[in-house]
Amino acid sequence: MRGLLLCNACGQEFNIDSTFPRCTSCGEPLEVLLTLAKPTVNSKAPTLLERYRDFLPFDRDHAWISLGEGGTPLIKSRGAAAGLGIGNLYFKNEAMNPTWSFKDRGTVAGIGHALDLGFERIGTVSTGNMAASVAAHGAHAGLETFILVGSDLPEEKIVPIAVYGTRLILVEGDYGDLYFRSLEIGPEMGIHFINSDVPFRIEGSKTIAYEICEQLGYKAPDLLVVPVSSGGNLRGIIKGFEEFFEVGLIDRLPRFVAVQAAGCAPIAKAFEKDQEKVERISEPDTFAKAIANPFPPSGNQVLRKLRQHGGMALTVSDAEIESAQELMARDGIFGQPAAAAPLAAAQKLASRGKISDGDCVVCLVSGAGIKSTSHLSGKKYDITRVEIENLGKAFH
Ligand SMILES: [Zn+2]
Repeated sequence: MRGLLLCNACGQEFNIDSTFPRCTSCGEPLEVLLTLAKPTVNSKAPTLLERYRDFLPFDRDHAWISLGEGGTPLIKSRGAAAGLGIGNLYFKNEAMNPTWSFKDRGTVAGIGHALDLGFERIGTVSTGNMAASVAAHGAHAGLETFILVGSDLPEEKIVPIAVYGTRLILVEGDYGDLYFRSLEIGPEMGIHFINSDVPFRIEGSKTIAYEICEQLGYKAPDLLVVPVSSGGNLRGIIKGFEEFFEVGLIDRLPRFVAVQAAGCAPIAKAFEKDQEKVERISEPDTFAKAIANPFPPSGNQVLRKLRQHGGMALTVSDAEIESAQELMARDGIFGQPAAAAPLAAAQKLASRGKISDGDCVVCLVSGAGIKSTSHLSGKKYDITRVEIENLGKAFH
């Protein structure tokens, strides 16, 4: 592997072979620092790791781990955009990944790191998208895979993780502490934990930014709106834009917008109050479970990056998310509630006059709506029942 691990908060450097994802001096998350000497995009390569090989720290070929991550479409909105008065509104549809969320990008990079370090056992702490992603990729890579979840995990969430032959461990106790406990247990048990914001997960996430730039003809959008939970994905996306800018592939960065659910918004709250550190939310209350992290491990780093680049953070209510989810579906994209939060935020910004008609706005659709539909079961849809003899009447 090339490069090193850097703490952006205090500047301390660590070896790229380090398994511990956080700074041992100040506790903040680490990032891969790589000298990018005239890198090029290998646009004919079939996998993500090969396509962006020059931008990633791997020396070895890990293409065989791939289940087909990335290469997701950037869809230009027709219906939603027209309603909001935004001329150029796009959806980056991460639901098109192998396990239907953006997590697959970070997982494939994280497993590459684990293999380079010689691990045969991997793990993660997650109840949702990341659990399924690590379980699937671990199975494909032939690694023993451990998923730690809270003991109250509902049955409907167990199957999409366990089906891959995963070692699923239900843990009683404070779920919020599991992230940190896993970092202690991992080295003792020889398990490499690929949690939400480990440095190599950031390396995977940054490819979202690369793809958006390429899809817009090597231009950055004016506004990029991202749902934020742990903060790892937004960190990766910002890093991707920074790197394309650094090597001259784009001439400016977008304005970054972090969106959180009003019922669990530690980052947006700290941003509004001009605080340097996020505070733990005692009781998260939102149906957008994928962005309900009460104490985001990359929260402080997201705050630093938003401020450095003149970005912003805002909240949207569950009702706003729900209506955005429907609006986005009318554009043909069914995202999970968290994935609809960016459209709800764009809607809010447009109504406040913060988006002008000519702006290019990209909303990140983080994961698929099909994964959780229970909140929609009571909805009234346009459904007609008819007996087959009367089928013709159904079309009136
Ligand atoms: Zn540090």
